[in-house]
Amino acid sequence: MKKVVKFGGSSLASAEQFRKAGSIIRNDSARRYVIPSAPGKRNPDDTKVTDMLYQCYKQAILDDDREQDFEEILAQIKQRYDEIIRGLNLELSLEEEFKVIRENFCKKIGRDYAASRGEYLNGIIMAAYLGYTFIDAAEVICFNESGEFAAELTNNTMTARLEDIDCAVIPGFYGALPDGKVKTFSRGGSDVTGSIVSRAVQADIYENWTDVSGFLIADPRIIPNARTIDVITYRELRELSYMGATVLHEDAIFPVKKAGIPINIRNTNRPEDKGTLIVEATCQKPRFVITGVTGKKDFASVTVEKAMMNSEVGFCKKVLEVFEKNGVSIEHMPSGIDTMTIVVHQDEFQEKEQKVIAGIHRAVEPDFLELESDIALVAVVGRGMKATRGTSGRIFSALSHANVNVKMIDQGSSELNIIIGVRNHDFEEAIKAIYDIFVTTQL
Ligand code: ASP
Repeated sequence: MKKVVKFGGSSLASAEQFRKAGSIIRNDSARRYVIPSAPGKRNPDDTKVTDMLYQCYKQAILDDDREQDFEEILAQIKQRYDEIIRGLNLELSLEEEFKVIRENFCKKIGRDYAASRGEYLNGIIMAAYLGYTFIDAAEVICFNESGEFAAELTNNTMTARLEDIDCAVIPGFYGALPDGKVKTFSRGGSDVTGSIVSRAVQADIYENWTDVSGFLIADPRIIPNARTIDVITYRELRELSYMGATVLHEDAIFPVKKAGIPINIRNTNRPEDKGTLIVEATCQKPRFVITGVTGKKDFASVTVEKAMMNSEVGFCKKVLEVFEKNGVSIEHMPSGIDTMTIVVHQDEFQEKEQKVIAGIHRAVEPDFLELESDIALVAVVGRGMKATRGTSGRIFSALSHANVNVKMIDQGSSELNIIIGVRNHDFEEAIKAIYDIFVTTQL
């Protein structure tokens, strides 16, 4: 059994957190490849080391009279690492590393290099703490000349490098361009590194340790004691993330999905919790009909009506082209026989609305055109909905009992999700009503 374990910033923010991560790793000898993030926040008012590094580099590249700030921030960063090292009673000094970093900052070596030092240094500490081999991600994560991630080259390089190494620490978040220059993924990118390593070593599972026990069925700000999702498929996750649920970097799915490796989201502060398992497919019956309910506020809709519109070839295309020409992206598009409704982000649409209206008039000469604003979209997602009769009936009766007026319904043909448009001010009520009918009443 081989496990890749990635620890997020809050899981490695202090010596105390490092100890928790260490005992999780030592508890299971299959946890052989460790991907650390940079130290994150120790409390809500704290600053992540990655942000301190960006700030420090910004000062470093300013004129000389600002150098004072640069030295000060660099010293603060060093102090954070020294505290961790001291707290772990390690015989390790980062003195030399910081000398090199300082020189490189002065040479204005690049913003990505600067940010990457957060995980690089944490990786050195983690390797020393565990007695694992340290592998610089710049040697095994490859980007091409245009700065895109080189998936196959990385996979081959990483596989070859790790072949004879039983236990290793590989810092997250960065790799290198062909000329050796450090390049990072986008923020939160250590998740991506964990996924890439999992594919390269053909791990049985990719454990992603963070500060929550997985994905929740609904936003805890709306449902205070929302339950955790036990198992979710990649497709369901995509639907939920698109509508606002975030725990994992979007690009972290692809490498493991390609290799059929499940991801387990776990909580470093509550290792006894099973967390959420993300899989490609499963025969396991979900506990509840819905996997999750989420959504977003502040959409606007444009309804275009024209008699006999469905027999007019190219009608929809002409309408959509107007949005395209004005650079407005479309979120949803429910349609009727003589109407089509285009749902867009309100803030993006507002400044262009008159141009779009004029464009639609010119393009299709509609009988009637109506705009509505302050719409919220609620997404009910669940692979279990397909096999359960009456799901939409239950949703709509729950909403009507809660006095929520449904403005729009859009069910994907996969039967994996139902999107419901409601007024912004009904959003929370709608989520509560749906959660209650499918979860609370089933407990
Ligand atoms: N340290 C980086 C960030 O704060 C990457 C990560 O934590 O995944 O975005």
